Parts: sequence; structure tokens; C-alpha cells
Amino acid sequence: MVGPTERVRAVERSSIRVMFDLAERHDGDLVRLEVGEPDFDTPAHVVDAASDAARAGHTHYTANAGLPECRRAIAETMRDSYGVDHDPSEICVTVGGMEALHLAVLATVGPGEELVVPGPTWPNYETQATLADGEFVEVPMPAEDGYALDADRVIDAMTEETAAVVLTTPSNPTGRVFAPEECRAVVAAAAEHDAYVIADEVYLGLTYDGEPTGIAAHTGHPDHVLTVGSCSKTYAMTGWRLGWLAGDSHLVDEVIKTHESTTACASTIAQHAAIAALTGPQEPVDDMYDAFESRRDLVVDRIDAIDGLTAPRPEGAFYAFLDPDVEDDLDLAKFLLREHGVVLAPGSGFGDTGKGKLRLSFANSEARLHEGFDRLEAGLRAYR
Ligand code: PLP
Repeated sequence: MVGPTERVRAVERSSIRVMFDLAERHDGDLVRLEVGEPDFDTPAHVVDAASDAARAGHTHYTANAGLPECRRAIAETMRDSYGVDHDPSEICVTVGGMEALHLAVLATVGPGEELVVPGPTWPNYETQATLADGEFVEVPMPAEDGYALDADRVIDAMTEETAAVVLTTPSNPTGRVFAPEECRAVVAAAAEHDAYVIADEVYLGLTYDGEPTGIAAHTGHPDHVLTVGSCSKTYAMTGWRLGWLAGDSHLVDEVIKTHESTTACASTIAQHAAIAALTGPQEPVDDMYDAFESRRDLVVDRIDAIDGLTAPRPEGAFYAFLDPDVEDDLDLAKFLLREHGVVLAPGSGFGDTGKGKLRLSFANSEARLHEGFDRLEAGLRAYR
């Protein structure tokens, strides 16, 4: 009898998707605060560059690793903005950060080996470990410390089977930026275990408190640290699907080889758009960043004013991870949608550490955020 593999059947549908489907089917006005993408349009000069490229006939495959100008633009941005110094030959341009992560996990985690991730965690790492026939290990970070990275906990969880550790900073879903000394301790322990560290830094350009600096830069660019970046969040380019993996060539060359069989190359037109985004005027990006920062302040103020609601102060990205002090976050999220017209992502979608929490995305206008908080406040009062 035919049937899909155990590997694909083991992939679970996330509760975030459940909320998305409910919201799509709902009649009436909803304040959508569950979405994980900027509400801004891609800057006009980026769209123009893509359109020019298509008209000029840049509509064919590129080399698997990407256009040389695109790899160069990525290398320069990583060096100048985040202190992460890689030769363009050590960069593979991918179909979003998502493909970079998938290829990085495939290249580092063998069957039965462990992918260790501090929780709460973005759900796709678990799926990627499953697709690599690996084991996903979530290591809970303490809620009382606002989910700050506690290197000792990660190190205690590492075993002989640990092949890679993912560090996501700024974090989705908590908005935390991990302290450099904790990252350094994890990177050092990973070296002792012959494990890789995959630094997921797709939100690094949206760091509000202090300079955005990559983990590779904090740790002297050791060969076992891989960096994932993307145009999606920083340049409002989620739909263009343009990301990258950077690391030592012993690993990146293997990824480039695998990439030939997954997508061959990132979209040529999107690569031209990325060159314009990375090397062109940065004012639209600066404006977007300023808007996110003032929304972050608004969100912190509104959370503080609601009795029984807490969240660590977001230091980056555009998420606040709310603790509404309930047992069943999915039930609460459905109630808030149905009865109060506000949509948040259930925390249990971000691993066991997220149970009982809600992720709020502030990728929405200040007026809609205020409206969303009014509804949330009323909804929480009614639910309790
Ligand atoms: N990593 C994290 C933590 C994310 O939140 C996302 C998107 O939501 C990605 C990676 C992948 O983003 P993209 O594939 O759009 O670059």
C-alpha cells in the first residue's frame, strides 16, 4: 500500500496555524496581532530594482550559491552592520532564512542526533530536525528571568548525541536578545561536543537596546558557528524569499551542493532586489525601525497597565511574549478571537516552555495596537 513516510507524517500542525485558519474564516473585524511579518511595504527602490532586472532579462538560473554581487552585498552588510566577517565565497544565498536553516540542520544533524534549542522556540526547528531524522531537544529557559539565555541549562542538556544548537537572537517569540557572555559559553561548550551552533539572526537588524552584533562576531568566528540571515524582516521582504547561510567553507560548500537539489538557487529577481535593499538607501529601513521601536514602547506601557498580565520587555524583533496567567493558551486565544475580535498566537505553538502564554506581534499600526490592547484587556477580564 502506498503512504507518506513516517518522517513527513511526524510533522505536526502548529496551533499558530489553527488560529490563522480560524481568523481567515471569521466574519467581522479582527485585530490581527498573530502575524510574524512587517506590515510595511517593501521599499520602492527595491521593487524598482527587481522590475528593472526582470525587464533586462535577468530571469534565468543563477549559480547555486547565488549571484556574486548578491553574495558580496550580503558579506558587506554582515560585516559593516553586525561585525560578522565572511568572505563572499562562504555565503550561500537561499530561499529565505527558512531554507538556510533547513539546509543547515540537514548538513549538521544526522539520523538520531540531537538538535538542541532553548525554549520557548520558533516551531520550525523541530520540523527541520524531524525531516533530518534527528531528535529535537527543547531546553526551557526560566520564565522568571524573562527567557534570557541561560548557558548552563543548555550545556547541561548537551549529550554525546548533540550535533547542533540553535540560538535565535533576537528571539521569536520572546523578543529577548541573548547576552554575549552566555552565547560565548554555549559556543565554547559546543566545540567541546563537536557540535555546531546555528545562529538564527534574521531579526538582528531589529535590535532596540544596544548595538546589533552577531554571535560569530562575539566568538571570533570559529568554524563551528553558522549564521543565518534574511531580507524578510529587516527590509519588509517576506514574500521575496531571500535569505542566506554564512559559515566556514567546509560546511557551506556542502550546503551549496545540497541546495542544488532543493531549490537550485534563490530567485534571480529576488537576488537583484536584495542587492538594492542591502546596498541602496537605508532611510525606509530606518523609518520602519523607528516605528517598531515606538510600538515596542507602546506595547510595554499597555502591558504594564493591565492587571495580571506580564511580559519580558522586547529587546528586538516585533514580538511580546505575554503571560496572562492561564492554563490553556489555545482556549484563551480562541476565546479572544471569537468573543473579542483580537488574534494572538498561542504560546504552546512555541514548544512546551510556551504553554499558558500568548505571543503578540506589534507589526501593526499604533491605532490598531491600541484597539487590540483594549480588546485584550476586556477579553482577559471576561475570561477570568
Ligand atoms: N527564523 C525565525 C526565528 C523566524 O521567525 C523566521 C520567520 O518567521 C525565519 C527564521 C524565516 O524567515 P524567512 O524564511 O522569511 O527569512
